[in-house]
Amino acid sequence: MTAIDRLVEFIPLDAVDDAQLDDLLHSLATLDIPTEKSFIRGVLSMGLRAVEAFVLSDPALLLLAEYWDARIGDADRVIDERLLALTGSQSASLRAYIKRSLYSISREWRNEAGIPVAVFERLIERQATQNLGAELRCELCGYWFQSTDVEGADRQAAIARVGCVFANSPHPNRIGDPIKPLGFGKARFTTLTLDHKIPRLGFGSVEFDNIRVVCRFCNQGKMSYRRSHEALSPIIAGALSLVPPRVPHSQLRQLTFTSSVWHQGSCRLCGGTPRHAELTISVRRGAASWLVPWNVDVVCYDCL
Ligand SMILES: [Zn+2]
Ligand SMILES: [Zn+2]
Repeated sequence: MTAIDRLVEFIPLDAVDDAQLDDLLHSLATLDIPTEKSFIRGVLSMGLRAVEAFVLSDPALLLLAEYWDARIGDADRVIDERLLALTGSQSASLRAYIKRSLYSISREWRNEAGIPVAVFERLIERQATQNLGAELRCELCGYWFQSTDVEGADRQAAIARVGCVFANSPHPNRIGDPIKPLGFGKARFTTLTLDHKIPRLGFGSVEFDNIRVVCRFCNQGKMSYRRSHEALSPIIAGALSLVPPRVPHSQLRQLTFTSSVWHQGSCRLCGGTPRHAELTISVRRGAASWLVPWNVDVVCYDCL
């Protein structure tokens, strides 16, 4: 068994138990390297990310991921064969791990199928203790959810157990804000969703600390992260976002909004944060009318 095969026996990382780790440390003890568990975990993690990056940089695989997305034909088997050829590894756990990464591109994952209600309950417990008056808000823009924004009886029940408080209506200044429409066409932007802060495709973890409650508007504002190496794309998209002011909605404005709010984080005028205020953006006074992240101020609706 090769070293890489031994390492990948321990995938997925969250399934590694102490006995397995001890076994791995023992086998590494013959090498003259530090063997603290945290160090080994780090090396293991880096190795996996490297394999993942290597595999995901294959254009044919990305194309396959598209097919996977649409569940066309036998994409699953084709991906398996392709992975086998690419990695040369017989390890089923390695292929399962990489497929999980590919799967993160797929629609199901974006629809949060993998996130259990218990995790959701812990997330809103955090909100109940941190937010003013236990208000249930988008952790990115501070939109205060209404009960009609929550899909699923299990989530409604979790919210009732925790005792989070809903809003009765949107903030009056949100209504008619051209930056943040409440919906567009059939899409409702106020629905409560769960978001991977660091996207799965950016190799973000599926663990609690990497998940947050956000409104659909903010979640969709991160859609440019669907491909690897895209951390800069909201900025680039923003640079192209001079759209006619009266167009009711544009994804470029949405990207500019999300990246600006994410980076500035609070109201420039009152310092209000998403824990108790809903944020929007406005083009800086005196600036050219380009709606780009470096031209806008984040402000809350109370100050607008
Ligand atoms: Zn939001
Ligand atoms: Zn403010």
